[in-house]
Amino acid sequence: MADCLFCKIIDRDVPATLVHEDGDLVAFEDINPGAPTHVLIVPRRHIATLNDLLADDHDLVGRMVRRAALIARDRGFAEAGYRTVFNCNADAGQSVYHIHLHLLGGRKLAWPPG
Ligand code: 5GP
Ligand code: ZN
Repeated sequence: MADCLFCKIIDRDVPATLVHEDGDLVAFEDINPGAPTHVLIVPRRHIATLNDLLADDHDLVGRMVRRAALIARDRGFAEAGYRTVFNCNADAGQSVYHIHLHLLGGRKLAWPPG
């Protein structure tokens, strides 16, 4: 999608520090990290919000979650713990309208978030 920041990162029109990519997904470092690890996992296909997911997307979302777990394992904090978050729409503070799974880890995280 032409005006989408994360589509531009996926297309390499905007630089980012990539962590992983495959046929369906791209993962990259958040530009404003909230923890020692803050990675964003996005589908290559533009999907604006969680509300736009289709029944056929179950596998895609599962891959996103599993990718977070694999990155946590690779970075050595899978056993200590970590957080995965999808923000959806204004009340949750979604600021980029291309779904992304936040992976936060590497420190103890407070709950609940603000
Ligand atoms: P949201 O608030 O939509 O759930 O999360 C958007 C995330 O994208 C934020 O954590 C923000 O720091 C990150 N972000 C915004 N602009 C950029 C950018 O240009 N590059 C990268 N790597 N992350 C970005
Ligand atoms: Zn997009």
